[in-house]
Amino acid sequence: EAKNAGRDRIIAFSPELRRRVEHTKRIADKLVHALREDRISVHFQPQVDACTQRLIGAEALVRWHDPEEGLIAPDQFLPIAREMGLLARIDGIVLRKAVETVRMLAARGIALPRISVNVDVQRLMQPDLFEDLAALGPLPCPLAFELLETLDFDEITEAMLDVLARLRARGVAIEIDDFGRGRTSLATVQLIRPDRLKIDRSLTAHSARLPGGVDPVVEAICNIGRALDIGLTAEGIENADQAVAFSSIGCDCLQGYHFARPMAAEDLASWIGARAERMTA
Ligand code: C2E
Ligand code: MG
Ligand code: MG
Ligand code: MG
Repeated sequence: EAKNAGRDRIIAFSPELRRRVEHTKRIADKLVHALREDRISVHFQPQVDACTQRLIGAEALVRWHDPEEGLIAPDQFLPIAREMGLLARIDGIVLRKAVETVRMLAARGIALPRISVNVDVQRLMQPDLFEDLAALGPLPCPLAFELLETLDFDEITEAMLDVLARLRARGVAIEIDDFGRGRTSLATVQLIRPDRLKIDRSLTAHSARLPGGVDPVVEAICNIGRALDIGLTAEGIENADQAVAFSSIGCDCLQGYHFARPMAAEDLASWIGARAERMTA
């Protein structure tokens, strides 16, 4: 009785909250089905060398195709997947599919120099992480893990540092994603000593609005990266001016709509083919 009254009250006082709860539940149910029916796929966004603009790799980005809702963006379902403890499993699927794609491309004579995948801390601490890596067999190209901004310095444990060291020993590069936004601090950089920092899109966009094209804060981040001999990727590069500006302050890798949007494996194959032709022409 009291429980029902409580429920009614939520309905009466906060239709918005109720809608949100129902939406989350619907997505959660659908996600469980989607995993069972193998509806999780991967798109790829090229990364280019800042000096030569040659392809140096691609980032694998999860996509979910729902028959009713169409393509559902990661920001809409990853937070829910995380709550449900399903994110580690999704990351595992993305890694496997990404590696399969690189192999498929290689078999057709299309070489992808490097692949990076986003890895949630949940996934990092799964006991079967190394078994899953081993099950992939010899990797067709170097692999990088992008650790998301949910990486909180206070959450970094000895066990996690041990996992990172073992990953590195296996040749997996460690990158900090969305650097400069969220909770990744300089203390985290000091502790982890990543192989690369990916400068967050919000900083890239802010820089582009300044007269000189580069924010001193971003320049300072790049100086830190260079001093530590860490690679620097600028993400969210949307025009040629940004590409030049970020290259000039020491970013060695660029990624963004200016070069290509994330795309399906087949489109990536065509994109690489067309680009290779253009660059040798
Ligand atoms: P992220 O790792 O920072 O990925 C880059 C996001 O920025 C992608 O959004 C990409 O489409 C978008 N982007 C790239 N270039 C541009 C640009 O020039 N302009 C603009 N406006 N946007 C650009 P997406 O694919 O929606 O992914 C969103 C986030 O979801 C990712 O951010 C990452 O944090 C997370 N994510 C994606 N796939 C996975 C996954 O497999 N596992 C985990 N754990 N997280 C993932
Ligand atoms: Mg990323
Ligand atoms: Mg990022
Ligand atoms: Mg991001």
